Amino acid sequence: MSDDPRSRAICILGATGSIGASTLDVASRLGIPVHAVTAHSKVAELARDAVASKARVAVIGDPARLDELRRALDGSGVRAEAGPEALCAAACAPEVGAVVTAIVGAAGLPATVAAARAGKRLCIANKEPLVMAGPLVMAAAKAAGGAVLPVDSEHSAIFQCLEGHRPDEVTEILLTSSGGPFRTVQDLSAVTVEQALKHPTWSMGPKITIDSATLMNKSLELIEAQVLFGIGAERVRILVHPQSVVHSMVSFRDGSVMAQLGRPDMRTPIQYALTWPSHLSGPVEAPDFARLGSLTFEDPDRRRFPSIDLAYHAARLGGLAPAVMNAANEVAVAAFLAGRARFLDIFATVERALGQLSNVSDPSLDEIVDADLSTRRRYA
Ligand code: NAD
Ligand code: MG
Repeated sequence: MSDDPRSRAICILGATGSIGASTLDVASRLGIPVHAVTAHSKVAELARDAVASKARVAVIGDPARLDELRRALDGSGVRAEAGPEALCAAACAPEVGAVVTAIVGAAGLPATVAAARAGKRLCIANKEPLVMAGPLVMAAAKAAGGAVLPVDSEHSAIFQCLEGHRPDEVTEILLTSSGGPFRTVQDLSAVTVEQALKHPTWSMGPKITIDSATLMNKSLELIEAQVLFGIGAERVRILVHPQSVVHSMVSFRDGSVMAQLGRPDMRTPIQYALTWPSHLSGPVEAPDFARLGSLTFEDPDRRRFPSIDLAYHAARLGGLAPAVMNAANEVAVAAFLAGRARFLDIFATVERALGQLSNVSDPSLDEIVDADLSTRRRYA
């Protein structure tokens, strides 16, 4: 396939979300054709995005809303479809060259696996499926000859720092974290949903914003890095960097450290995943370093944020542990957002779930899905 990104029509899974909106903006500026857009339940927003992006297909995840979507698209020429199978079919359509995975949570697993098996360029924002079933997704993409390109800003940074290098040249990946809204808050027992949703540097969907407040997002990213780059979690160090300008770094065995820097705007890594190996002109300017002043780094507080040690533990256990960690986190975050649980319950739930894990090595996709569902039932 040509290197010109305009020759690859895209499917955006989760087009109505935060990453979805940024992807639509990047595609429209670069003239990348959009074949399909999907959403879970927001019919009006999905129809609006489908028409504006001139998509051929719009898929609503909730099958009960198909008629509503058909009415919203009446006369537009966009085909309306619904249900989980239709999501996978949209990602695998022969017209599609690249899939941007921007669904939130484990819900994106089937479509991620389907797109990997179909050999599409897989631009991964939806990190949870990689955490749950990383080796299976990577093996499927490799077998089908499709590239896997990270959209997560840290992983896009690491990917760029690693280009042209072998894993054995690397001593350490330095995975940066803003530290979230509670970086300097000593007592987390009474923090509210409203406070947790106020991220200091990034504007994102609600689930990942809570994950950023607990640092569970960094925990998921630790496993995401291990999966994407084949470098063990023990060689990934989490570093708090409140300015969110250094998106991550790679330290090499000769003492040289490479970093990728940029403004905290997801359009930069989304665009690079779509245009790799080229850097094309885009809407985001490079930071003005004289105005930025200082860039600072510190170790995370592992006592206040037990999520970090839980992630290293889950990475060491392997097998079903990352999927169980993820599922427990998803239900605990949903409970916190709904006002049914306190902030610190999120850590306690993940710890309990990992403590009660009955693990298997090299699990199949069915075993992973079962572990996900049973963890949800148990800790919801
Ligand atoms: P969001 O909540 O803003 O959007 C989620 C999208 O997924 C929506 O389009 C929604 O309709 C769809 N969706 C939700 N549940 C679904 C289901 N059950 N079935 C089908 N579709 C469903 O989320 P977001 O902030 O854009 O994040 C998306 C993913 O990208 C997450 O995995 C997140 O961790 C990752 N990510 C986000 C950012 C960011 O800046 N927002 C940065 C890095 C990684
Ligand atoms: Mg990230």
